[in-house]
Amino acid sequence: MAGLAVLEWFRVESRRRGGADVTNGGPVQHGYPHLDRVRASITALYKRLSYDTVQTFATSVAPVDVAFADTDDLHLGAQRVAREMVRHYRLPDARMIIGFREMTHAANVELAAGPEYFIELNDRFRVHRRDIGAALAHEVMHVYLHRLGLSFPGTRDNEILTDTAATYLGAGWLLLDAYREDGASSQKLGYLTPEEFGYVLAKRALLFGEDPSVWFTSPQAYTAYTKGAARARRDAEQPPLTAAGWAGRRRYARDRRHAQDLGPGHRAPGPEVPYTFTPDGRGPLRVSFPCPTCHQRIRVPVRGRVRARCGLCRTVLECDT
Ligand SMILES: [Zn+2]
Ligand SMILES: [Zn+2]
Repeated sequence: MAGLAVLEWFRVESRRRGGADVTNGGPVQHGYPHLDRVRASITALYKRLSYDTVQTFATSVAPVDVAFADTDDLHLGAQRVAREMVRHYRLPDARMIIGFREMTHAANVELAAGPEYFIELNDRFRVHRRDIGAALAHEVMHVYLHRLGLSFPGTRDNEILTDTAATYLGAGWLLLDAYREDGASSQKLGYLTPEEFGYVLAKRALLFGEDPSVWFTSPQAYTAYTKGAARARRDAEQPPLTAAGWAGRRRYARDRRHAQDLGPGHRAPGPEVPYTFTPDGRGPLRVSFPCPTCHQRIRVPVRGRVRARCGLCRTVLECDT
């Protein structure tokens, strides 16, 4: 692949009542259809970057650093915002060359050897300048992941990885904030649903003690964030974690009893049950479950209160197994 330019497209979903569609978007998708891939993306990021590097992204892109008024010069402003993304992702020698043209998708980037990368933005950004930061948060993240050599097989999964990484590392809140609906039109950028963006943003907020809710200019983005945040909090309230609620603990005790009775190979039922009991050779029963922070699977012995530390993200997990 060396030297081969790879084009990628960045999707915009947009519609206007009573007028021609700006792009081929269709209705905005909601909920958590990509949650498994989103979680796998977070795990992959920790594996590739390590805990220490993730920690260096404790500060998000500030709204003031990517502010872009419609009276600002288009090209100078786009270059300024791109430089801010390059600085945020720590790509010291990378230079983004921004152009605008009419196209179906929101943006694309040519993933070549660098240090110059060509990013094309949809002409619509000429009159939606405040969303240029969102588009560049995604496109410059493509460059970052390209340089890391981190990718998923398949375009769709790769785009989910890109949105998740941008959001987890502090720039993707702009993508969520670009989601707006009013009586006449709707707009959403990126491949995650609004709630999935909210979920990743909340995972980040929990990690760094951040409150991104004050940055939103879009009421719909704020609502999606609160929904995603509730979902993110639930990750830390699953048995065998001690923060699990009564119903979860009761179900866990029943599943554990079945595993003990039925022996090796018994799996906990249901897709929403995150833990699995496994035999440990001929030894005692063990339970595995996803780390609530990085989603790598943790395995601990079934023997009452256990404190474990995730080897990948270093989260300390209080368990009652
Ligand atoms: Zn993309
Ligand atoms: Zn972890």
